[in-house]
Amino acid sequence: MLLHIGLDDTDSPTGGCTTYIAAILVEKLTHLGVNFIDYPHLIRLNPNIPWKTRGNGSICLRVEAHEGIEGEIKKTVIEAVEAFSDYECENTNPGIVFYKGDDIPMSLKDFALKVVQGVVSLEDALDLINDVGGTAIGYKNMRGIIGATAAIGNCLEEDHSYEFIAYRSPEHRCKIRVIDEKSVYEMDEAMRGETFNNVDRKKNRILITPHGPDPVIFGVRGESAESVRKAGFMIKVGEEIERWVIFRTNQGTDAHLQKRIKISDVKRYYPAVIEVEVVSKPKIIDGGHVIFQTRDETGYIDCAAYEPTGDFREVVRSLINGDSVRVYGGVKSAQETLNLEKIEVLKPARIVKMENPYCPRCGGRMESMGRGGGFRCRKCRFKDPSLSKIQSESPRSLALGIYLPTPSAQRHLTKPLERYGKEKSTYKLRMLEEPWHWP
Ligand code: ATP
Repeated sequence: MLLHIGLDDTDSPTGGCTTYIAAILVEKLTHLGVNFIDYPHLIRLNPNIPWKTRGNGSICLRVEAHEGIEGEIKKTVIEAVEAFSDYECENTNPGIVFYKGDDIPMSLKDFALKVVQGVVSLEDALDLINDVGGTAIGYKNMRGIIGATAAIGNCLEEDHSYEFIAYRSPEHRCKIRVIDEKSVYEMDEAMRGETFNNVDRKKNRILITPHGPDPVIFGVRGESAESVRKAGFMIKVGEEIERWVIFRTNQGTDAHLQKRIKISDVKRYYPAVIEVEVVSKPKIIDGGHVIFQTRDETGYIDCAAYEPTGDFREVVRSLINGDSVRVYGGVKSAQETLNLEKIEVLKPARIVKMENPYCPRCGGRMESMGRGGGFRCRKCRFKDPSLSKIQSESPRSLALGIYLPTPSAQRHLTKPLERYGKEKSTYKLRMLEEPWHWP
């Protein structure tokens, strides 16, 4: 039998991580004798959902096992979720979903797409699980069942990436992570093109470590299981690594930014990709954020590049009225400002000025002699009634193309520039021959 196990919403800002439960389960289920048919999937969901803890991540484990141990597998999963979830936090509502079957039904795949690209209800998830014959277990308000269902439905059949995540032992959880930063820069250099978003060179910061009290020491993202494994082993850490696992994931794929819409279709909490014209000069507001107004044939929308996006704000500030751009982002607040995740300059407006002509005799600048009266040179007083204003165009520094916030401000799902051209259109299951997890 093939069993798909979805998990979500187990952690809180003060601790835990659903990927850690996955890592624990990889060890425990391997001991039970199951065969993992794929790497654990780490599926990032719609990043604009306000009730997420951090990165809106969910997990799916896909295992092959004898029917006889199905009960034991489910018991192990439930025990792990119950042992490692942070029930104290109001916003932690764990969900577990089991689905048995060789193929994932289309209805589950469609649902998974909606959870990355939109907003769904718990009722929709529960009805679907019922329809396809799955089983759901929810705790507290049970919202985690949504993400757990979506993780099962998202088979990562198209573009995907990998992450090697190393975890710390419980006694270190509240201590500062000791990472040899030099080893991170060296790895980044050596694995360029094969890994992404390891460091933010402009901000002089390493990006592979989280900052909270969660169990992750570091995570390295990349194009293949081989590359993230190699990169992960290059990182020097000043504490004991309790375990590590390679995940297959939709991180860095822009999976949420696939649907182009009009301004009138923008909905709160939904991602948006809109082709617009800039209609106001970008202005800097308190806190260093940059705001400008745009329009299309259906309406107007303000767009914002926030302070943490770094140099990205310089690009945004250089926009002028009439620029044609594609804006990517999401709307979180009632004010309906689009928080920019990316911008694509499609057609910069031309800056055309009409100027007085130069004197044909001495080259000096001429002045008008009144409407229809021609021009007179300010310097040599030469007059020519037949001259008219000349057109001049100021160059724009803004080039066509895609611009992203500085890496430290990019979302987990945002496709970094170095991934353009590396998108995968298919997936052929091939697990590493070397271990992909430890222990
Ligand atoms: P964790 O590591 O615990 O998963 P997180 O930052 O990933 O933390 P969650 O704590 O899981 O966020 O919170 C997100 C909650 O929102 C989950 O209960 C999930 O089921 C739900 N959710 C995610 N995406 C959607 C969506 N598109 N529509 C409705 N609910 C969603």
